[in-house]
Amino acid sequence: MNKKILYLDMDGVVADFEKRIGELEPELQNFKGHQDQEALSEKIDQICYANPDIFHDLPPIEGAIEAVEKLSRHYEIFFLSTAMWSLPQSFTGKRIWIENHFGNMGRKRLILSHRKDLLKGDFLVDDRTKNGAAEFEGEHIHFGTSQFPDWETVYEYLMRKLKI
Ligand SMILES: [Mg+2]
Repeated sequence: MNKKILYLDMDGVVADFEKRIGELEPELQNFKGHQDQEALSEKIDQICYANPDIFHDLPPIEGAIEAVEKLSRHYEIFFLSTAMWSLPQSFTGKRIWIENHFGNMGRKRLILSHRKDLLKGDFLVDDRTKNGAAEFEGEHIHFGTSQFPDWETVYEYLMRKLKI
């Protein structure tokens, strides 16, 4: 039987971008809770321009590496991320991050797109609805919500899906 296709977003799903932003700018700790999203995203962009290699060495999200390695035995996994168009180094950083954390398992499995809805597949784990995630043709597993707060929950959910 062919494995089902599982896409994984990077920032906020396998790579802890929020943690690194909080380290660089303490007032932006846990930025997802901030009210003014427009001002927030402007500030985050400025931090990235000042630290263009920020995407190279983000810490992994807790439990992500182990869960993804185990899931790769059962699913065809691809990393589906949106890089910063105005920061070309972010494209390189993401490529390096995948190799550093997943080695051979991640080889040739990185897709960078602003239109996640155009990809064919069964599941997408993403912490946001932007860049086409909400319109993805398969099931959007919304990471960080009360239904899918962490990797343990997502892993168990995807393992249960194999039996259906
Ligand atoms: Mg994300």
